[in-house]
Amino acid sequence: MKTVGLLGGMSWESTVGYYQAINKGVKQSLGGLHSAKIVLYSVDFDPIEKLQHQGDWEGTAEILSQAAANIERAGADFLLICTNTMHKVAPQIEQNINIPLIHIADATAENLVKKGIKTVGLLGTAFTMEQDFYKGRLTEKYGLTVIVPEKSDREIIHHVIYKELCLGNALPASKVEYLRIIDWLASQGAEAVILGCTEIGMLVEQSDTEIPLLDTTYIHAQKAVECAIE
Ligand code: GLU
Repeated sequence: MKTVGLLGGMSWESTVGYYQAINKGVKQSLGGLHSAKIVLYSVDFDPIEKLQHQGDWEGTAEILSQAAANIERAGADFLLICTNTMHKVAPQIEQNINIPLIHIADATAENLVKKGIKTVGLLGTAFTMEQDFYKGRLTEKYGLTVIVPEKSDREIIHHVIYKELCLGNALPASKVEYLRIIDWLASQGAEAVILGCTEIGMLVEQSDTEIPLLDTTYIHAQKAVECAIE
């Protein structure tokens, strides 16, 4: 079995989900007392969140590149960055390591292609919903049409992520708002909705709505299981 490298802590609330899903996946595949071999480097999210909102992405890239190199040195065979947003600096991180990076948008897009879905809604931080590092990859590499919420709703989604979910608070009123926005995405032609932020699964789940939801934490973790035991 290969060793999974996790660059986590963004936020740690969602990294817990990765740790559980990867171990459960390995147990399910190999049975008995099998569990995943994992090297986890969990960063302090506070300075990273500040750099993000100041637009200092190179600052975040430096911190994460060093962490990734430490993960490689500790024996990981491949790397997962446990957040959609920080894939914005995936190219810089990749330059600093010699092990493969399992990109969260690739794992998600492969899942959509397998299901035959062509038009998809995207929820995530404003960075993920508005910038090209994520949407562009889905469109250019996989030919998907990506629909995002309108500006005022993007602000609600973003606010809930940083002010509630990353602090471990899943509030009923926010769930109502998220489900309203998911319904709007469906009304615009989305055949499925990507939960493109690793905390959103703490707030909404498949049983809350008819439209298929793609939880990127779960999908990324499943991909790690496949890579570890292949
Ligand atoms: N975990 C989140 C994501 O998947 C947001 C936190 C961050 O900015 O990294 O995008």
